[in-house]
Amino acid sequence: MNEPFTSLREELRYEKTNRCVQCGYCLPACPTFLTMGKETHSPRGRINLVKMAAEGKIQDLSALEEPLDLCLGCRACETVCPTGVEYGVILESARAALARRKKYTVAKKAMRSFLFKKVFPSRKAMNLLGNAMWLYEKSGAQKLARKSGLLKNMPAHLGEFEAVLPQTVSPAERSRLPRFTPAQGEKKYTVAFFVGCVMDAMFHKINQLSIQLLAQVGCDVIVVENQTCCGALHAHAGEVEDSKQLAKRNIEAFERHDVDFIVNNAGGCGAMLIEYDHLLADEPQWAERARQFAQKTRDISQVLVLCGGVQGKAGRAERVTYQRSCHMTNVQKVTREPLQLIQSLPNVELVEMEEANMCCGSAGIYNLVQYDASMEILDHKMKHVKDTEATTVITTNPGCLLQMKLGIEREKLGDRMRAVHLVEYLAERAGIAEPQPQPVASQS
Ligand code: SF4
Ligand code: SF4
Repeated sequence: MNEPFTSLREELRYEKTNRCVQCGYCLPACPTFLTMGKETHSPRGRINLVKMAAEGKIQDLSALEEPLDLCLGCRACETVCPTGVEYGVILESARAALARRKKYTVAKKAMRSFLFKKVFPSRKAMNLLGNAMWLYEKSGAQKLARKSGLLKNMPAHLGEFEAVLPQTVSPAERSRLPRFTPAQGEKKYTVAFFVGCVMDAMFHKINQLSIQLLAQVGCDVIVVENQTCCGALHAHAGEVEDSKQLAKRNIEAFERHDVDFIVNNAGGCGAMLIEYDHLLADEPQWAERARQFAQKTRDISQVLVLCGGVQGKAGRAERVTYQRSCHMTNVQKVTREPLQLIQSLPNVELVEMEEANMCCGSAGIYNLVQYDASMEILDHKMKHVKDTEATTVITTNPGCLLQMKLGIEREKLGDRMRAVHLVEYLAERAGIAEPQPQPVASQS
């Protein structure tokens, strides 16, 4: 055990569970309650389980495993809760308590340690992953794998995810990401750009376009050296100590630069960065530094709006819809800015989908480790996406982007619908990026 807890109550943050008055207002907002229909798979039920464990009424903590594993961590329950229950804190503490007690097989332990300690935190390892994906695509191996039917036999539905992999950039292009990009025209702000780990490996192009957009609206953009993974994947898996170490590395790296904002373009990472102050609140030598870091953290849409928005060129008339990132909505509370940016584009009609705040089922790696539950939630989401009759689904998080692409594939809508990141869409409409191939039905 890494942390000196004096009691299980303390470890499970029992005091936070007492705020829940069992009213049930959160039930209709919870995707797993709606799709699974079980009290134990609702926010209220999960809080109750943690509370009972803390009170000693549940002796075997493994009884909490399935309900907590199946929680998306979308935190929609927090947004609707009238008494301000900090569900995220309860969930994270309970997951960490379970992870401390779990007896992993040697192989699983080694794999977790490799991924959490050696891969995600290492820019070098993530670059290698991005370069390997590029080689897979360009060498013809991808075509061969797809043609041969080999992918259908891959474990854990990896074949389905392979079909929606984004196009990657070459190693040469990856190495050219500028450390400093000056503002175009009058400078409004100096910002430090957070590149992320998965975001930089798999969606490097979106990072490049983010920097170009920020510069175009008047920001000097610094790509800070020695930055690392935000730690969200670690925290969600109960590896809180690892996420604290990553938070400290990021704080040290970014505080070397005097900037107005620390900007990210991934809803999940942004939510983690903005909560560094909570994460390190109990460490006196870090608490204030973490608070300052969190205070400067912004999603890219907020900074683009602050700078006056993106000048879209009059292009093809199109209907689009916006799939909200749960972490951006429920943790960062950024909801208006992406809509404002989309609505300001000429010839673009934004149609909001029903249950817009409902999670798409992506939730970090939930769609990989809880495939069936995730697909049920995705299928529910896709009904609303289809009803909008949009030809482009715009997202603000890499996980949501892949999940939407997967939903489009599953529904066989590829001839009339595509999914893009907000940054890609804005860059396309501003004439910075080549338009991505349009679905056939929208080209007329
Ligand atoms: S978490 Fe909040 S909304 Fe849900 S039952 Fe408890 S008090 Fe009510
Ligand atoms: S975080 Fe999401 S899935 Fe988990 S209990 Fe809250 S609303 Fe339900």
